[in-house]
Amino acid sequence: MTAQNVHAAYHALMIDIARIASENGRAVDDVTLVAVSKTQPADAILELAAAGQRVFGENRVQEAMEKFAPIRATYPDISLHMVGHLQTNKAKEAVATFDVIESIDSERLADAVAAEMKKQARYLPCFIQVNTGDEDQKNGVSPDDADALLAHCRDIGIEVIGLMCIPPVHEPAAFHFALLHDMAGRMGLKHLSMGMSGDYEDAILFGATHVRIGSALFGTRAQADNA
Ligand SMILES: *Cc1c(COP(=O)(O)O)cnc(C)c1O
Repeated sequence: MTAQNVHAAYHALMIDIARIASENGRAVDDVTLVAVSKTQPADAILELAAAGQRVFGENRVQEAMEKFAPIRATYPDISLHMVGHLQTNKAKEAVATFDVIESIDSERLADAVAAEMKKQARYLPCFIQVNTGDEDQKNGVSPDDADALLAHCRDIGIEVIGLMCIPPVHEPAAFHFALLHDMAGRMGLKHLSMGMSGDYEDAILFGATHVRIGSALFGTRAQADNA
């Protein structure tokens, strides 16, 4: 997309989110847009930052480090969310680079992240990623194991603020959003990261506090990126 198109897409999206929120009795500022900028060039991200967007999501540690270091020199108040699968051997860089980790999905990863947070004295709020479809190939903790993982995170000093999910592609997303909403209520967690370009309306309907949107803002991505 050109710079004007990114601007136009951003404003249209913000208006749409506001409409959906108000139609569902939600406050507009109850829903945070996480602009997922994976594979996008720094120019496009800077355009969005210039338009006022401050919360971004990336799914690869290395890419996020390289792209956002110079961008943050101009926009120090950017908040960067890790939305992709995190390997334990990347915990150090992830804790140094991101402001929120949305993809805690195992005790092993939680241990590695907690150890780094202590070492760096950088305590990031985190989401637990739930594999709501219990898909073999998907990351995320199984719904049955989510309570145990939450308890473990609390034991080791990780502040869990909510749940995150990526519904299976071939199923209606609403079912998964409803499930995540119920789980968060039962677990006493306030935040729900759910909804992408194709299904954010349903997600907001079911209580999303964070929608993670890439292609509706930046246009379709050139490369395969569903790692
Ligand atoms: C890529 C990605 C998104 C954004 O997807 P779009 O369909 O482009 O909006 C959201 N969440 C995660 C975890 C992603 O990897």
